[in-house]
Amino acid sequence: MSIYNFSPGPAALPQAVLKKAQAELLDWNGQGTSVMEVSHRGKPFIAVADKAEADLRQLLSVPDNYKVLFLQGGGRAQFFAVPLNLAKRGDFAQHLVSGQWSKGAVAEASKYMRSDVVASNYEKDGNIFVSDPSMWSVDPNAAYFHYCPNETVDGIEISWVPKTGDVPLVADMSSNILSKQINIADYGIVYAGAQKNIGPSGLAVVIVRDDLLSYSRADTPAIYDYALQAKKDSMYNTPPTFSWYLAGLVFEWLLEQGGIQNIEAMNAKKSLTLYDCIDSSSLYTNHVAPQYRSRMNVGFHLADTSLNDAFLSAADKAGLKALKGHRDVGGMRASIYNAMPLDGVVALTEFMREFERTKG
Ligand code: PMP
Repeated sequence: MSIYNFSPGPAALPQAVLKKAQAELLDWNGQGTSVMEVSHRGKPFIAVADKAEADLRQLLSVPDNYKVLFLQGGGRAQFFAVPLNLAKRGDFAQHLVSGQWSKGAVAEASKYMRSDVVASNYEKDGNIFVSDPSMWSVDPNAAYFHYCPNETVDGIEISWVPKTGDVPLVADMSSNILSKQINIADYGIVYAGAQKNIGPSGLAVVIVRDDLLSYSRADTPAIYDYALQAKKDSMYNTPPTFSWYLAGLVFEWLLEQGGIQNIEAMNAKKSLTLYDCIDSSSLYTNHVAPQYRSRMNVGFHLADTSLNDAFLSAADKAGLKALKGHRDVGGMRASIYNAMPLDGVVALTEFMREFERTKG
């Protein structure tokens, strides 16, 4: 029986990547040791680090005037690193709140800078929408504008990009980076915790425009000072070397899949397959307005909630793992990041139809 892991994060990694890491674990690169046991300053590891960065730059077409940082602390560390690094650009930040994670970013950033919420999501006719840019405006004096294009918990994805003029746009792409083509030049900073589409948890990738590297507060902790880390090639402190190596393997795998264009098409197909199954059933529902439905995190509720436990345990027995929704939202959530094959989504929809036929 195939096992499919729908975990929201840490999430499934491509099988081919895990096999390669396994094959190289005890003797990496002819060194007679694992990659975890060599100096980050030695040539062999620097080659890994450089290749990972080059591949990521190729995948996302990162312009030359952006630095790519590989930092510790995951996604949440950037919630405070962003206000600290942009502190001298202005006295306040503006935020679009579209779900749990963008709300969390406001709470943390508020400790360091006034952080105003200019817009949130709302409900209309039983569906959840995000306030679109016609409903709010960006203050040109803001130090930056922050939003989260994919809300992992709520299953909300925003396909438009806020136009913020000269105010740097900061995007938390933890759960949809590398899932679709983006134009990096639209953003001042893009950051992502690694544990969905990049690699192991604990690592964060930060892509930051050069001109934003001179606004940090004097008391910014050194390891979160973007300018310092950029100068030191993310090696001011010892970087999470194994995670960086594994991220590099994921980037190679993405290039082998034909790059982001192909991955994006596959993600569209996977999510449509699942939403079609939900929409054509009378047992499963999803209340996110169709244009805001996430391609990565597909939530659904059972009309009869007394069936939740039976659904989860039958799914688990069928090899469909980690479908329980977030504790704050309830119901189910299938996270279908890049590493989830179409077969896994098809297996899930077949299971859902059969469950509805027999129990629903
Ligand atoms: N932002 C988003 C969109 C996330 O999904 C997560 C984690 N699920 C985070 C931030 C926080 O990441 P971490 O747990 O690595 O700090």
